[in-house]
Amino acid sequence: MPYEKELSIAISAIESAVNLCRGVQQNLIAADTVEKNDRSPVTIADLGTQAVVFRAVHRAFPGDALIGEEDSSQLRENAELLEKVLGLTQAQDPGISKSGLLEAIDLGAGETDYRGRYWTLDPIDGTKGFLRGDQYAIALGLVENGEVKLGVLGCPNYPLDPANPDRRGAIFYAVKGAGAYQINLQDGLRKKIAVDGLNDGEKARFCESVEAAHADHDAHADISAEIGITQPPYRIDSQCKYAAVARGDASIYLRLPRSASYREKIWDHAAGVIVVQEAGGRVSDFSGNPLNFSLGRKLSENVGILASNGTLHDHTLRAIAKVAQ
Ligand code: AMP
Ligand code: MG
Repeated sequence: MPYEKELSIAISAIESAVNLCRGVQQNLIAADTVEKNDRSPVTIADLGTQAVVFRAVHRAFPGDALIGEEDSSQLRENAELLEKVLGLTQAQDPGISKSGLLEAIDLGAGETDYRGRYWTLDPIDGTKGFLRGDQYAIALGLVENGEVKLGVLGCPNYPLDPANPDRRGAIFYAVKGAGAYQINLQDGLRKKIAVDGLNDGEKARFCESVEAAHADHDAHADISAEIGITQPPYRIDSQCKYAAVARGDASIYLRLPRSASYREKIWDHAAGVIVVQEAGGRVSDFSGNPLNFSLGRKLSENVGILASNGTLHDHTLRAIAKVAQ
């Protein structure tokens, strides 16, 4: 299989990150939360995860560019925070030193030629959900020539079976051309996943952000009414929304930014996109264009994200166009 080594390294790095994040979420105390410039909450788990994942990827593929959401600046200014992150990181990767930790985080803070090959990581996607004790994802994607080739999504709290919400925790992964899979984190079993086959909008369910600041819920309500959807939206933080579409828990994921100037970050989508595509679905922007990952840290040419089961994609694009008129 192509990308076999990449996949096994990525899955094992995400497994370590899931362990790290679960421990922190369970012990979450307000003092561990720091602020970053854009004021969104970032946690020690965020920084620890970036170190653990990038060290593992860099060790296996030292020539590959790594693009992450975080850098080490907060840790360099805060000795207490640094000790906490070091302890967490060492529990997953015992050989890591203080300087190694800072270097590993900063592996992701540089720039690259985004038309080439690079990895992109959101160490904790859905920080608001994480801090609420709710859903979040650890999202790692591998991009080549502007297209996602591999994605691994760690979803520590995602229900394994919607009918039995107490059983939680999955990793979703996909390699271009090789299908999409779920690893059950309770028993380690892997299974192939697929989108639902719904082609009747009235029976469909759509998902969207919990946070009203991250997506225009009112516009989504208008679009979903136009599609014919009658069920309430499935609101869930992070790229777990892509997992929901890939596994058939929802048929459509809508994400229209509130501000016309907002452009999505590559790490908020790379892993999720390939998981949905390989589960048989489709992903585009609100005009129907594919997402272009070759332009920099942002999807600067794409506005609005639509992920779907494929069968409802064109119908949804028509509803979007009608509502926008
Ligand atoms: P979600 O959990 O789907 O609400 O998305 C979380 C992601 O939203 C974060 O990783 C941020 O990068 C991203 N985000 C932050 N601000 C905005 C915004 N104004 N519009 C859209 N996405 C945003
Ligand atoms: Mg994110």
